[in-house]
Amino acid sequence: MRGADVPAKALDARALAALAANPGCRRRAILDGAGVDKAKLASALGAPSGFGQSQFALTRGNAFEAKVKADGGAELLRLAHTRLDPGAEPPEAAAVPDLTAQGPEGRTARTALALREATRAGGWTLLDHPMLALDVAGSLAFLEPDAVVVHPDGSWSVVEIKSFPMLDGSADPAKVGAAARQAAVYVLALEDVAARLDPAPRVRHRVLLVCPKDFSNLPAGSAVDVRKQRAVTARQLARLTRIEEIADALPEGTCFAPDRDAEELTAAVAAVPATYAPDCLSTCELAFHCRERARAAGAVTRLGRPLRAELGGLTTVEDVLAAARGELGDPDDPAVAALRRAAALRAEALQEARAREVAAVCR
Ligand code: SF4
Repeated sequence: MRGADVPAKALDARALAALAANPGCRRRAILDGAGVDKAKLASALGAPSGFGQSQFALTRGNAFEAKVKADGGAELLRLAHTRLDPGAEPPEAAAVPDLTAQGPEGRTARTALALREATRAGGWTLLDHPMLALDVAGSLAFLEPDAVVVHPDGSWSVVEIKSFPMLDGSADPAKVGAAARQAAVYVLALEDVAARLDPAPRVRHRVLLVCPKDFSNLPAGSAVDVRKQRAVTARQLARLTRIEEIADALPEGTCFAPDRDAEELTAAVAAVPATYAPDCLSTCELAFHCRERARAAGAVTRLGRPLRAELGGLTTVEDVLAAARGELGDPDDPAVAALRRAAALRAEALQEARAREVAAVCR
């Protein structure tokens, strides 16, 4: 579906968190499930996304992560100890197992083995870039957290290393929220690994967020409670329509290869229903394309989910206006009744304004 020689774009936790944020969008589900590079697809459709980090930001982020993990992760483990588990013994002789293996499946198996061994051994263990797998709508997504820490009591914690600054102990709430949603996906994947062990180790719901302190390059740590994000993501991922079900409903030969011409790609993309919402602009590479289509179709989804929910069965602006004029809809429907009342109030207000204007002219 993504094209014969096109490599699959792996789903990462950020993409999964975004997918879970819009579980009703079949378009995103099938494109992500088929490993389509949505940024390339958006460019081929003539609506490139403004997504992605600059090379400078990537280099700076990598340098900061390397610093945090230097000396066998001594600083990172110190932060995990002080922020997440101050009652435990200090992490003086932590293990850092080698997680090298062939391919994502091999790395996932190696990670699961390392987690099991570390849990049995006791003490502190740092897993640097482990690989976890999560079943998403019937297909496996491989995820790579920055790190996972095994505590002396055998519990596991996710570590997120970000390059945005922590100023006076707190960071930009929007960025922390995005990091928490991402970490929640890792927590769910870790819980899958834990569930296969007997007894199942505890996966902590407080994750360690490590950011540069103020404007320096020194690491600062903060414990972030991701219980809410974990619950929401688990619920939304469970609601995702199975990918085979979406694929079965597509016309034979549907292909999203970015080397196809724009017209062909537009038809292929249009064959999969989408539920555009303004939030897509900050979470999905296809947002500009979908927004244009939603606008052209007069869809009310582009006005935001709360309004869309209030309008019930009225899905286009045209239908909404017709309902307000009394030409469409059941008058007992609360949305239709509210629209007619609003239209009547508007007409009354306009009439009064006009009458005032006429009176002023006559004087
Ligand atoms: S931008 Fe389009 S494909 Fe992406 S989530 Fe929104 S509606 Fe779905």
